Amino acid sequence: MRAITVLPGQANSAQLTDMPDPPLDDGPVLVETMAIGVCGTDIEIVGGLYGTAPHGAERLVIGHESLGRVIEAPMESGFAAGDLVVGIVRRPDSVPCPNCAVGEWDMCRNGQYTERGINGRHGYASERYRIRPEFAVKLDASLDRVGVLLEPTSVVAKAWEHVERIGRRAHWEPSVVVVTGAGPIGLLAAMLGRQRGYEVHVFDRVTNGPKPQLVSDLGATYHAGSVHDIVGRADVVIECTGVSALILQILGSTAPDGIVCLTGVSSRGTPVQLDIGLANRQMVLGNDVLFGSVNANRRHYETGATALAAADPAWLGRLITRRVPLDQWQTALQREANDVKPIIEFAS
Ligand SMILES: [Zn+2]
Repeated sequence: MRAITVLPGQANSAQLTDMPDPPLDDGPVLVETMAIGVCGTDIEIVGGLYGTAPHGAERLVIGHESLGRVIEAPMESGFAAGDLVVGIVRRPDSVPCPNCAVGEWDMCRNGQYTERGINGRHGYASERYRIRPEFAVKLDASLDRVGVLLEPTSVVAKAWEHVERIGRRAHWEPSVVVVTGAGPIGLLAAMLGRQRGYEVHVFDRVTNGPKPQLVSDLGATYHAGSVHDIVGRADVVIECTGVSALILQILGSTAPDGIVCLTGVSSRGTPVQLDIGLANRQMVLGNDVLFGSVNANRRHYETGATALAAADPAWLGRLITRRVPLDQWQTALQREANDVKPIIEFAS
């Protein structure tokens, strides 16, 4: 079978490789891959900046955002041929740490977790893969064109879950949500905010392309200017850019009792001036919370699947701005203007 593989650490080593069929050891559920989503992590892996091959292997099959259809599954697995499925990315560490031991591998304490398509395990960018049922999530059959969005949705489902758990520290009636960044994560975070009935504001730099309309079609407000005016009203901020200057504008500037969730991974090496005394003062006097959130566990995938099934399928379809067939896979791994989410289609 064909798979998209890289030599981790080597830029431009990506190729379509002929691989043996997936080993039975990977699990009893055999899945035909339909589509793979491409994100910044994949572009870093292909650029040689990130990723590790499985133990004993030279190459790594990439692909962590997936959608597939079950080919065969044992009766007791809960899956049947024809089911739409998405594979979970992270696997618990083998120690396991206290969090991995209870299925919260997204909160792993020792960093020894593995991740399909990223870190020590082959990903889903192969024509077929095998998986254990506890790491596969069934999707509503209506999501066969857009289910590849589940992995990024699971990331924002976790962010929202943690925002709400923090909110329950006291009486909490949020109304205004600010999302910074209108990429897939920001747009899906905004969608979950609208599903909760909040007033949602989304900030991005661009003034053209599909993003402004995608935001307004959610019933949210798009801003291409400064967050400064609105962040003071924000009860919740979901930061999806990792841009230092933006984080500085948000820190300590929300409405009282504000909760800021950081989901963007910044690059190092751009020092900015921060009056930490002022930020500390504002955060203490405002009961502010600032926290980071990454990855997702099974519960978040299931919440994400419910959120996708409740969303407008046409709107979700517009997030997928390019559908590239497998024989042109390389073009999906290059950024293009107006990209929201490019995907590689394996089979339909
Ligand atoms: Zn762990």
